[in-house]
Amino acid sequence: MPGRISDQIIEQVRHANDVVDVIGSVFPLKRAGANFRALCPFHKEKTPSFNVNPTKQIWHCFGCGKGGDVFKFVMDYENLDFLGAVRRLAERAGIKVESEDATGHAVRGEKELLFRLHDEAAAFFQENLHAADVAKRYLEKRQITLEVARQWRIGYALDAWDGLLQWAERKKYDPALLATAGLALPRDNGGLYDRFRGRLMFSICDEQGRVVGFSGRILTDAKDQPKYVNSPETPIFQKGRILFALDKAKRTIIEDKFAVICEGQIDTIACHEAGITNVVAPQGTALTEQHARILKRYADEVVLMYDADEAGQNAIVRSAEPLWEAGLALRVAVIPAGHDPDSLIKAEGGAKLRELIDGGESFFAYLLQRLSHQHDPKTERGKLQIVRQMAEWLARIPSPVLLATYSQQTAQRLDVPENAIRQELQKLQRSRPGPAASAPSPEAEETIATAPNLTEETLLLQLMLADMRLVDLALERLDPAWLSTSVAGAVIGRILKLHAAGKWDGPHTLMNALADAEEDRLVSELAVTPMPGTALEAMAGDCLATLERACAKRQSHRIRRQLGQPNLPANERTELQRELLDLELKLRHSI
Ligand SMILES: [Zn+2]
Repeated sequence: MPGRISDQIIEQVRHANDVVDVIGSVFPLKRAGANFRALCPFHKEKTPSFNVNPTKQIWHCFGCGKGGDVFKFVMDYENLDFLGAVRRLAERAGIKVESEDATGHAVRGEKELLFRLHDEAAAFFQENLHAADVAKRYLEKRQITLEVARQWRIGYALDAWDGLLQWAERKKYDPALLATAGLALPRDNGGLYDRFRGRLMFSICDEQGRVVGFSGRILTDAKDQPKYVNSPETPIFQKGRILFALDKAKRTIIEDKFAVICEGQIDTIACHEAGITNVVAPQGTALTEQHARILKRYADEVVLMYDADEAGQNAIVRSAEPLWEAGLALRVAVIPAGHDPDSLIKAEGGAKLRELIDGGESFFAYLLQRLSHQHDPKTERGKLQIVRQMAEWLARIPSPVLLATYSQQTAQRLDVPENAIRQELQKLQRSRPGPAASAPSPEAEETIATAPNLTEETLLLQLMLADMRLVDLALERLDPAWLSTSVAGAVIGRILKLHAAGKWDGPHTLMNALADAEEDRLVSELAVTPMPGTALEAMAGDCLATLERACAKRQSHRIRRQLGQPNLPANERTELQRELLDLELKLRHSI
């Protein structure tokens, strides 16, 4: 397993990063009773429901249900995986994370060097800008001030074969690293030369705002040169995963719940500077499945804002595919002919562009419109063509509600019976088999019918999270057989196991041991929910008694069912009857 970090180091990193400090350094937290409170960064809200509990080192939002420990916060907030979050927090606390895997470490070492190289190269390009009149003239023409250039880390690559190489030599960078970074290319007769020469340099950042690549725009009219030269794929730069400006846009995207995608860097920068800060752009590639997945983490909806020309319109349909399949709601904002977002802002102001974005029609309506232009919806043949192509898109909608709505709209628009659409869909679905819907099994129904009082398990769990002594009490008195298969029941079982193994050290111990998001959610929610200060032990005792009784009831229910079976051998019947009697006695005495 590459990049494993020992549990010991993970615990050391956890102890060195107080959850209140970590979250409090990102946005302000206010004291509220036993917790700290803030507006949730993961969903839009007006009154704060995001709680951080300093004693339990756990956070939870009552609005959107997200929650967890300090690692989970960094994972969710910065979109990192678990190991990424551990490394980030280790870095914060100045703890050296030694990987148990040597190759994993070597790879990470190279990545870290590449991040540093890109950061310093971006600074070098930025410095060059001040003496580069040709670049400054261009910026002036595009109405990009030097302050905006600084914020977006726009720079200039010297018009020389070895401008960056000489800088790298002074900085003692290994030339091989520059080749890996794609900043230098090999010469035919050995040696290297700069990839970017005499170009305006846009820094491309990842979601965390680290420079991972560059896009260089030509500044002359030279026809034999490409308009843009981009960094190639490197260990830290994968085009299919990078969205330009996502690091700057992600806050607004989370707040507004939608992202706007446009075509280029200059357009994106112009939008942000006009106050439309949820705009991103793919980086020198069509929109990919990975882009869609990244956006889905932040937004429910995407607005495609492309040019009015044929190329732009084709790009809309192409870009829509991965987004549509990811289940994102889609709208289209078409920029009037002859304009791009940048020129439109310059001509008519940001408010005009925002109007276009807010008024953008649904992709579905757009598509129907477009197909109706391509095929005549008044003829039988045209209708059939449109229905078939619409069905292709409809078949990929994950939501049955949206599917029904859109099918209906298509039928109305084309003036065909809705059934015709459904038949086309069925034809398509038959050719791509999906998972069959399963009916609940008789056992599952039985479990639901005799489920114990779930609130008792939840309350017991909350008590155990609030007071360590109650975990001892539960360990002593609770029979694991009393626990149901509910989420709370599963978590209680896990605590008891951890405790028995000598690993229980409070609620945060649990966070790495939980099975799924539902368990995470319940634990973090209970951990930040205030408890009455007294009689906790008596409450726990009541819970235990109730659980015991519920378990006995479940057993007696099961035995009665078995006794009801015909052809039950006499000895088994006697045995079951005796068991039942014991249970009934127990139930009567426990009341
Ligand atoms: Zn929330």
